Amino acid sequence: MQSILVTGGLGYIGSITITELYKAIGKYYKIIILDNLSNSNIQVLDTITSIIGEKLDLYIVDIQNQTELKEVFKKYKETNPINYIIHFAALKAVGESVENPIKYYQNNVVGTLNLLNCAEEYKCQNFLFSSSATVYAPGEFVDEEAPFKPSNPYGETKVVIEYLIRSLSKKGGRYLCLRYFNPVGATKDGKLGEMPNKPNNLFPYIEQVAIGNLQQLYVFGNDYNTHDGTGIRDYIHILDLAEAHVVALQELIKRDEKKENYYDYFNIGTGKGFSVLDIVNEYSKLVPIKYQITDKRAGDVAILVANPNKTKEKLGWVAKRGLTEMCQDSYNFIKSKQ
Ligand code: NAD
Ligand code: UDP
Repeated sequence: MQSILVTGGLGYIGSITITELYKAIGKYYKIIILDNLSNSNIQVLDTITSIIGEKLDLYIVDIQNQTELKEVFKKYKETNPINYIIHFAALKAVGESVENPIKYYQNNVVGTLNLLNCAEEYKCQNFLFSSSATVYAPGEFVDEEAPFKPSNPYGETKVVIEYLIRSLSKKGGRYLCLRYFNPVGATKDGKLGEMPNKPNNLFPYIEQVAIGNLQQLYVFGNDYNTHDGTGIRDYIHILDLAEAHVVALQELIKRDEKKENYYDYFNIGTGKGFSVLDIVNEYSKLVPIKYQITDKRAGDVAILVANPNKTKEKLGWVAKRGLTEMCQDSYNFIKSKQ
């Protein structure tokens, strides 16, 4: 049996993707988790175990540590060689990346270089990378051929890694970059979701207001050129995002079996934009969300929405879940954590 190595597998997107991946192909592949716990906690493994009914192998390893990383590849070489990598591990706080660009380049870029180095040494040539919509300039219905124009060091690290992957793919192998828009929500059972130490993003902040831990939401600006003046984003349900990974990995598997070289990049979004006040109104159907308009947040853009057509045409994937479900599952999750 071959292995799939999931870096950052205890994080928000990684953990939920693992449960979906296990359901889809867990019978045929061994799933190995690697995480340094810098933004997650070890109890997530128990939650994953309780959902899938099997305890997966976990390595508490930092991808910046090439020696330890190699040990993991070596350990499985004879029995369950690592033939696929889903690379989630990264730091992702935009503000922190502005404060400390070196930390972000070190963790995200150097860490990925290490991982790709090990992959090369151990002849693993199937790589699925978590990229981001932050690689683009703001816009509506942004397609994959839009030029890279990141506005912060976090986004820059994604661009640098995408360039590296593109160059590497010319030597052969199979590489996919998925550019996520705004993942939100949680699993239906409320067991897995996003639990940041300090809520910065919209949904985690609203969740804290919803359960009374924070008094009100501060809406960052209401004079953008949008229908109600507040910023518009393409929110995508985390289960849709997890399913996109299953589809993408299956594409890699198919191409690997045929020994075809492959390189592509896809937007993972819904193609629908919602403003901050649209979200507040929808969430307020479940529980009142008090808010106050305040100054714009530095570096924010008015609108960023995906054109998801290429993903639909070439991968056959479309997001199925709407805003009502995103809010319901988010509220269900945070209530269950109280
Ligand atoms: P997360 O912080 O919940 O998960 C990332 C995981 O990686 C964490 O468990 C963390 O401990 C681990 N990690 C970080 N650096 C590591 C290192 N050096 N070695 C080993 N493990 C390390 O974040 P997430 O939201 O699940 O994001 C997953 C991926 O998706 C990231 O690459 C992120 O940049 C990308 N992404 C996220 C969003 C979003 O809004 N959540 C949007 C676009 C792209
Ligand atoms: N936002 C807000 N108040 C908050 C957090 C976010 O008004 O406390 C707005 C933000 O200005 C943006 C949208 O919500 O228009 C989504 O922000 P988030 O940080 O979730 O995602 P990103 O800006 O990275 O797309």
